[in-house]
Amino acid sequence: MDFEPGAEITALLERVRAFQDQHIYPNERELLASLDREVKQGVPYPADLIEIRQKAKDEGLWNLFLPDEEFGPGLSNLSYAMLCEEMGRSPAIAPMAFNCAAPDTGNTEIVIEHGTDEQKEKWGLPLLEGEIRSCFSMTEPATSGSDPTNLAATAELDGDEWVINGHKWYTSGAVGASLAIAMVITEPEGNPYARASMILVPTDAPGYEMVRPLSVMGHTAGPGHCEIKYTDCRVPESNLLGPRGAGFLIAQDRLGPGRIHHCMRAIGTAERALEMMCVYAAKREAFGGPLSEKQFVQDFIAKSRMEIDQARLLTLHAAWKMDTVGKRAARQEISMIKVVAANMVMDVLDRAIQVHGSLGMTDDTPLAMMWRFSRMLRLADGPDEVHKMVIARREVGRQLKKAEAAAS
Ligand SMILES: Cc1cc2nc3c(=O)[nH]c(=O)nc-3n(C[C@H](O)[C@H](O)[C@H](O)COP(=O)(O)OP(=O)(O)OC[C@H]3O[C@@H](n4cnc5c(N)ncnc54)[C@H](O)[C@@H]3O)c2cc1C
Repeated sequence: MDFEPGAEITALLERVRAFQDQHIYPNERELLASLDREVKQGVPYPADLIEIRQKAKDEGLWNLFLPDEEFGPGLSNLSYAMLCEEMGRSPAIAPMAFNCAAPDTGNTEIVIEHGTDEQKEKWGLPLLEGEIRSCFSMTEPATSGSDPTNLAATAELDGDEWVINGHKWYTSGAVGASLAIAMVITEPEGNPYARASMILVPTDAPGYEMVRPLSVMGHTAGPGHCEIKYTDCRVPESNLLGPRGAGFLIAQDRLGPGRIHHCMRAIGTAERALEMMCVYAAKREAFGGPLSEKQFVQDFIAKSRMEIDQARLLTLHAAWKMDTVGKRAARQEISMIKVVAANMVMDVLDRAIQVHGSLGMTDDTPLAMMWRFSRMLRLADGPDEVHKMVIARREVGRQLKKAEAAAS
């Protein structure tokens, strides 16, 4: 396998890097504050970010995530993963600047891939143009998100309308979203993996209620992670995405690439934290010399360097496997990187904060924001423990097969 980016991706990486240097890092704190201040129902992005997004669009740095050549640049998972690392250096802003932020990326992909012409026109194109935002509404406070076969929210057909009832939470980005994709049970008698469907719900539909943005580690503002109630919420029958009962199948499409993107962004976040740790440690003096000469700190730095590089190689390998043998065959690798990258970034951030002393806990550096932003990764898109459970199951199965083959 060859992880050399190649001329096209090297050029794109340089452009993304230069764009971030010019427009994002110098304005990062103000952009974060604008997001918190301005995003509300009907306002998906703050004015200063809209300006930066327009520049990115004008420069062709737009929708880079789309593997579909009709609508995006058609990059492989491996190539796009490298761009994600760059964007992950400013995880709360840069992906939005390039119209490459979750959950819009996954939502756009499934609308483009599984939507009817009408759905693509109504929701897919405005998402691609960056005119609207969307959210994905699956997790429920009353049932285990780790095992979504337990989902309780339902939708029933009444004439030519779906009537949705359910209580969701952690619907990220719902504050400024025009579209929610709700995962609900439509086939209660079906097998557990064929009971759920996805339904497109405009956030002004009757019966859709954004109850509150949850307080996530003290933060409630911005696009938000929201509690949503669907109470006799009515949408046209034609808002079903894909076939009835295909919710889990479509979710799988969304999750594989989504996890690689999350992991590579986490690697970019960790890389920036390590850079900050090294520079600060070299300048800050205590007990007769710079922190960078203390063995405890050298241990932090060396471990971080090794762990980031290990995680990057494992993630690029997973992306390469998806590109060469497909999403299904790469499932084990995708689960592995999800655990490795999500834990690695927290370890590196924690060390970077420690080296910065009390400065690391303030919002005067991006470390605290990156810590808050990254902690979710050990839970969202499958908690560590669930990924480890399936990694172990597959590994036992593989080893048993090998042992049986050797014995026969
Ligand atoms: C910031 C953030 C953003 C999110 N955004 C979205 C979103 O946009 N849309 C959405 O639908 N959801 C979203 N989620 C929800 C996320 O996907 C769920 O939290 C996740 O799936 C876990 O579900 P749960 O919270 O119900 O935990 P539970 O399923 O109740 O699990 C609780 C804990 O039990 C343990 N556990 C579970 N299974 C096992 C096992 N087999 N063995 C051992 N231990 C186990 C794990 O430690 C797990 O963390 C988000 C979450 C966060 C924190």
